[in-house]
Amino acid sequence: MSEQSHDFAGRPDAFERLWTPHRMVYIGGENKPDDDSVASCPFCSIPGRTDEDGLIVARGETGYVVLNLYPYNPGHLLVCPYRHVSSYTDLSKDERDEFGELTAHSIRALQLASRPAGLNTGTNQGAVAGAGIAAHLHQHVIPRWMGDSNFFPIIAETKALPQVLGETWKLLSDAWERTC
Ligand SMILES: [Zn+2]
Repeated sequence: MSEQSHDFAGRPDAFERLWTPHRMVYIGGENKPDDDSVASCPFCSIPGRTDEDGLIVARGETGYVVLNLYPYNPGHLLVCPYRHVSSYTDLSKDERDEFGELTAHSIRALQLASRPAGLNTGTNQGAVAGAGIAAHLHQHVIPRWMGDSNFFPIIAETKALPQVLGETWKLLSDAWERTC
């Protein structure tokens, strides 16, 4: 990581090496579900993995938090209910309450781990609204930094994908334990 890149980012950040190659995989269409069924839904299968293998940062009673495999920015988290529902209005009150709590905890963990200048949160409901996996509701929590959309100088210094995501997972899992 060069000093110049640090300056460009505004401030050094713990995830700085990490992002664009995953998006290139996404653009290629890999791992997109074939249909809207539970059987082909990644958000239904992820909780069956170990935390490290599934990149799960936290598990609640009704939902969980996972690193996005195709982040817009490093540290991009997804809050998902365990239940395969497509709409926010399909959640029970308990599920919706925890969905909110997990979102707030995600924000605090990201703030502790990487001090983003800002954050985007939100759900894209339906393919027309931009949902990559429309059948299973998920809330994006995306850390933002000044100039992050122009972060191309970093590409050349990016490590191999599995190691990079594993390091981000460790940082955020640790930050999760230290926040509430
Ligand atoms: Zn699902």
